[in-house]
Amino acid sequence: MRIAFLTGAGMSAESGVPTFRDALTGLWARFDAEQLATEAAFRRDPALVWGWYRWRAALVRRVAPNAGHTGIAALAMEHDVAVVTQNVDDLHERAGSRDVAHLHGSLFASRCIDCGGTAGDGEHDPILRDAHAVPDEGGHEDPPRCAACGGAIRPGVVWFGEALPDAAWNAAIDAIERSELVVVVGTSGLVHPAASLPRMARDAGKRVVEINPRPTAITPLADEHFACGAGVGIARMERELARWRP
Ligand code: NAD
Ligand code: ZN
Repeated sequence: MRIAFLTGAGMSAESGVPTFRDALTGLWARFDAEQLATEAAFRRDPALVWGWYRWRAALVRRVAPNAGHTGIAALAMEHDVAVVTQNVDDLHERAGSRDVAHLHGSLFASRCIDCGGTAGDGEHDPILRDAHAVPDEGGHEDPPRCAACGGAIRPGVVWFGEALPDAAWNAAIDAIERSELVVVVGTSGLVHPAASLPRMARDAGKRVVEINPRPTAITPLADEHFACGAGVGIARMERELARWRP
């Protein structure tokens, strides 16, 4: 079967990565996204923004993929599976999924804010440098400087107001068009254009299943809503897969 997974922050919640909008535990309870997740915010206070992403990258490095991530990777052994994520962590890849489309970029692809030059990615990304000296959440650290032009190095994520990477967006459209079933996991469905993908799927006549402990902006347009976490939800979806066979 051809299955497209659209995943958001809730996908990684059971790994211990806090989501953005969950009250009390969500990052937004403590920080205003506008203070962190825009280019203007970075230019105004680069040390606050770089420090926060350094903290988040270190957190992601410490945690492991959860049963949801591994369940999706395992499904790909028998089915044609595409993964499209809004997450900037690498937990899908570490669980074994291939060709993951990252709509909002990656924590491990830092680049110069002025000339766009890369700063060494993956394990060599400066966001992982000096692991012993990572600031606490909310702590400050000056970003490194670009070797070519002296500009500040920024995280490789997509901030509010920025365009999504073309390749990832095209991969998302392609995944939906090819799919027989679209499974939306752990996203509040509020950040566009990513949030328009489930509707696009529904309008194209695809079956849409949502896995999220809470109802979201996507729930009304989904064929089914599994009110549970990602790990339990993916396992259930796999057990019941025959129900959606075209
Ligand atoms: P979100 O935080 O808006 O929503 C998370 C969703 O996950 C919620 O609907 C919640 O009910 C659900 N959830 C919680 N626990 C779950 C679990 N165990 N299993 C399944 N679902 C669970 O996250 P989002 O929709 O991915 O946010 C979209 C985008 O917003 C992000 O990709 C990011 O780019 C952007 N954003 C960035 C920042 C920032 O960088 N500072 C801040 C806010 C938003
Ligand atoms: Zn530069």
